[in-house]
Amino acid sequence: AMLEVLEKSRDKIHQQNQQLQVLATRDPLTGCWNRRAFFDQFETLWNAAIRKGRHLSCIMVDVDHFKAVNDRFGHSRGDEVLRQVARAMTETAREGDLVCRYGGEEFCVLLPGRDVNEGYQVAERFRSAVCRLEFPDLRVTASFGISSLSLCANEPAELLNQADKSLYVAKTNGRNQTVRWDRVPENARKECSETSKPI
Ligand code: GH3
Ligand code: MG
Ligand code: MG
Repeated sequence: AMLEVLEKSRDKIHQQNQQLQVLATRDPLTGCWNRRAFFDQFETLWNAAIRKGRHLSCIMVDVDHFKAVNDRFGHSRGDEVLRQVARAMTETAREGDLVCRYGGEEFCVLLPGRDVNEGYQVAERFRSAVCRLEFPDLRVTASFGISSLSLCANEPAELLNQADKSLYVAKTNGRNQTVRWDRVPENARKECSETSKPI
């Protein structure tokens, strides 16, 4: 009887640990990785990619004119849009990709094993998936910036910054598009580094 009690309590602790793990690593609204878990895994994936000479791409995503969604339809509709956008991307991603809610209406996606061309295709698939979402009286789009390890970032934060600056260019070029870091003109690279906040 004592053994049975011990086993039950061990199972319960195991279950509670799993719940804690989810709470600590996932964004409660979308179920995506949270920022802390994302950075932990980014470090590991970055080191593995360098060690094995593999590709790694990073996409930054920002929902277009999202403030207007909240303003027109209310915060809970806004939340629903964020859930659907996240779902559109996680369903389009493949196993091993990391979809993170970076903050507010911004997401960051890591694509291990994919170069900038493949990463660009993935970002475009995400973009179409978001465009195809259906909401009453509302059309949602998002802008994307992508960079890859092969484009000479020295550390994870730099790769993320390159993707973020590319996203900034996608925004200023009219939104609902994907911009690759290797297609961002030199003058725009400087311009956005002066105006965008460092990560
Ligand atoms: P842009 O196309 O330039 O990105 O414009 P935007 O309106 O998307 O950008 P802005 O940064 O002005 O607004 C982002 C809004 O996202 C403001 C904030 O209230 C909203 N937001 C952030 N987090 C949440 C959330 O968890 N739920 C909801 N409903 N809204 C959120
Ligand atoms: Mg934003
Ligand atoms: Mg936005």
